Amino acid sequence: MNHEPNVAYWHSLADRAIAGELISRDDARAVLSAPDDQVLALLDAAFKVRRQFHGRKVRIHVLQNAKSGACPEDCSFCSQSSRYDTAVDEYKIQSVDEIVDGARRAKRAKAWKYCIVTATRGPSRHDLDVVCEAVKRIKAEMDITVCTSLGLLTEDKARRLKEAGVDRFNHNLETSERFFSEVATTHTWADRVNTVKLAKAAGMEACAGGIVGMGESQDDVIDLAFALREVGADSVPVNFLDPRPGTPFAKLERMSPTQCLKTLAMFRFVHPRADLRVAGGREVNLRWMQPFALYCVNSIFTSGYLTTPGATPSTDHQMIRDLGFEWEEVESPAPWRRAAAGEEACHARETSGEAAP
Ligand code: SF4
Repeated sequence: MNHEPNVAYWHSLADRAIAGELISRDDARAVLSAPDDQVLALLDAAFKVRRQFHGRKVRIHVLQNAKSGACPEDCSFCSQSSRYDTAVDEYKIQSVDEIVDGARRAKRAKAWKYCIVTATRGPSRHDLDVVCEAVKRIKAEMDITVCTSLGLLTEDKARRLKEAGVDRFNHNLETSERFFSEVATTHTWADRVNTVKLAKAAGMEACAGGIVGMGESQDDVIDLAFALREVGADSVPVNFLDPRPGTPFAKLERMSPTQCLKTLAMFRFVHPRADLRVAGGREVNLRWMQPFALYCVNSIFTSGYLTTPGATPSTDHQMIRDLGFEWEEVESPAPWRRAAAGEEACHARETSGEAAP
């Protein structure tokens, strides 16, 4: 196999990804090590894959930090851990009304998905009740897809979320299995994999990604990308570390914009069909290169992150328009409403004796 970093090689990776073939670890390494003067050629090849499966659509996601701070876990990148001295807001779970209001704001920001997040090891019964009630109300009121990120799940909790109408559950693997103990010690990488599997088994889509730039090796980034493919992640958020004051990772340096773009290209080749997102740290790591990320990924967060600000919806809308892309709307009526309408139509046909088309 030709591993010479040139246009033909990058396009051969794109063609193989489109054909459903998993690129090799050597290929992934070549992408991450590409010389900077190959970045445009690499983006062109990544865009070929993105265009094949996602066209020029961009999915906008909006986060709601529904319960902030005081988390008992010790993730070294996270300012919401109670173990570190950080200036993060601390509050218990928001009310159902506040969470539903957040969904209305997300809808106004043209969001395709609203992501309800709590800082916790796993959801308490009370928090789960609040989230489930909020999701039911959101689904009844508006056309938007809903993701929840509530920490570790059990089978029963996953089932309750699915029954409430949650479309997707987020639980990041964060990094490779090998590097994980450098990132967190209060739970294991295997615990995280287990929760992703429980979410999928309950019938929700699995959103699982990680953070790059935490001092891991190139092989760890490749291991993460391949592990996410193995667990069947439908949505892959790639965060770039934005070192938070007070956390153990506070002194780490940010990544270069070109290394971020190579990382996103590698993830696109490994996850050709996934809802691949440039997530936290986009603005501060990519800076002026942010629009280029959209040639690899098909989704972004707008309106900031859990504890840090980000681009405003109007800035992101302008970026999408300037690229000649368009944001993806949830079809109206939404699939769950269509399903309900379909059932009613079937029922009407049965009672009238009319045959289905
Ligand atoms: S990343 Fe999540 S589990 Fe880890 S400390 Fe932060 S809020 Fe807690």
